[in-house]
Amino acid sequence: MADQASILEQLEAVSRAFKAQLPERGREIERQWSAVRKQPDDLDLLEGLYRLTHNLAGAGGTFGFSQITDVAREVTEPLRIALKERKAGLLVTEQASLDACVKLLIELCIHPALDTEATVSPAKPLFPELPATLHSLTKLVYLLSESTEDVSGLVENLQNLGARVVLFESASSLSGAILETSPAAVLVNSPADKISVAFDLPETVSRPPMIMLSESDDFDSRLSAVRAGMEGFFVKPVDVSAVLNLVDSLMPREEESPFRVLIVDDDQSQAKYASIVLEQAGITTRIIHDPTEVLEQLAEFNPELLLFDIYMPQCSGIELAKIVRQMDNYVSVPIIFLSVERERVHQLEALQIGADDFLTKPIRPKELVLSVMVRVWRSRTLRWMMVRDSLTGLFNHATIMERLNNSFALAQRQSSHLSVAMIDLDHFKQINDTYGHSTGDRVLAGFSRLLCERLRGSDVVGRYGGEEFLVVLPDTTLEHAELVIEEIRLVFAKTRFTANGELFSVTLSAGVADFPRVGSASGLLDAADIALYKAKEQGRNRIVSASSLVKKQ
Ligand code: GH3
Ligand code: MG
Ligand code: MG
Repeated sequence: MADQASILEQLEAVSRAFKAQLPERGREIERQWSAVRKQPDDLDLLEGLYRLTHNLAGAGGTFGFSQITDVAREVTEPLRIALKERKAGLLVTEQASLDACVKLLIELCIHPALDTEATVSPAKPLFPELPATLHSLTKLVYLLSESTEDVSGLVENLQNLGARVVLFESASSLSGAILETSPAAVLVNSPADKISVAFDLPETVSRPPMIMLSESDDFDSRLSAVRAGMEGFFVKPVDVSAVLNLVDSLMPREEESPFRVLIVDDDQSQAKYASIVLEQAGITTRIIHDPTEVLEQLAEFNPELLLFDIYMPQCSGIELAKIVRQMDNYVSVPIIFLSVERERVHQLEALQIGADDFLTKPIRPKELVLSVMVRVWRSRTLRWMMVRDSLTGLFNHATIMERLNNSFALAQRQSSHLSVAMIDLDHFKQINDTYGHSTGDRVLAGFSRLLCERLRGSDVVGRYGGEEFLVVLPDTTLEHAELVIEEIRLVFAKTRFTANGELFSVTLSAGVADFPRVGSASGLLDAADIALYKAKEQGRNRIVSASSLVKKQ
């Protein structure tokens, strides 16, 4: 993300450019107006004038020229009525009453004086709170503990399950670190009453979620934890995977790629302004000024949200939205309209075709960013839930099968390696029988996290069935896949879970197979399954490769 200073510089550059263009815009309006006065029935001339003044109405306020916006609005309204409602030229009376207004607008453009309440150069950061909450996606965990000795096991367990842990011995050093980098959560291994007094952060800094690790489970301990602002409370010895599950639920679950927004606005400075505002919040944008290019950009850029200006010369934003909504692939992409229109009729029409929001110009940065964030967030979450298993967050059965088929097709096309591993937890029924089903669930979630942390981003992992998992490793030889899964096996066997104050661990067995040794996607599944069965037969807590079975036969 760009820093605040350079964003302000960029915003200032766009508004300087806008200001520099104003005299030319004024002269254009002047020429157009005199043409309209000569031929008041020529609707093309009128449309041209409408477009010029309409764009000014939107842009003026955005760049701190609110008087220009006000006057431009007064000019556009009778033009709009003539063009859109009456579909005829200007009446003589209208021409007369408009004349003074248009001249004032021209004057304001040719000699622009910035309004006193210019809005483009905020002295403080635009959104102090947004990037911290929506973008701190790494699982960085701070642990506050006065004694480092009794937490070494805890730290190791946290690291095994994929957290990055930084240890602090005093609340003041912790506060300092939070100011620098905000973690996903703070685990507090000291009495809560000590924390509440020592743990100060300035009001502008959003405090990360805090989780209490307590010696005792009595009411007073819980109450003082709540009063110290703790979001979670665990009694020692803590179940690390349960702690991390809570951390996850407090954090947005997200693919880490930035949101993608396509901006369609015929007015260059408006589009640029919206783009800078969104980019400074970590959102990737692409601008097009010509709506006819939208189909191309949908396919190429694959936007997650569309920001459409309503009034554009080639076609309206509403028409554009209708085109997009008629395409199967894009029926659910959120659309936000951005316009100076205030009339309900446009808003209703926009809502009917599934508009998600309707923002009026001038653009208010915070409103725009929030509106976009919320919508992309929701649609990502929905998509996420459709392809995921709710307990583990891994791909569900249907999705992992689809991914396997895709990866296989790719490997075949590129003649590259592809390995798959079928992993099954050992004696899992016993875990459920001994500690209860919900403990079993926690183990499944903990194991899933470990898988995600240990595998590469290009590997795909899904919950194949109950306690059975399928890992697809593109570009990976069988030997390498064995090493990767072996490491996961070792780490998992060392991971401690707790139930009723008792510590226990679970092991896994796995079978691996690879392309090109096996020549089809379903063949890979069968071969990995047979190898898994052998691993169980040979005593569990081990990995068997399909190739070793072939060699022995
Ligand atoms: P093996 O080492 O041979 O794999 O023994 P196992 O006990 O793991 O295998 P089995 O297939 O007999 O039992 C699997 C158990 O996994 C039974 C089932 O209740 C449990 N299980 C499946 N899905 C879930 C789940 O979502 N949550 C919990 N807690 N348990 C589950
Ligand atoms: Mg099992
Ligand atoms: Mg099983």
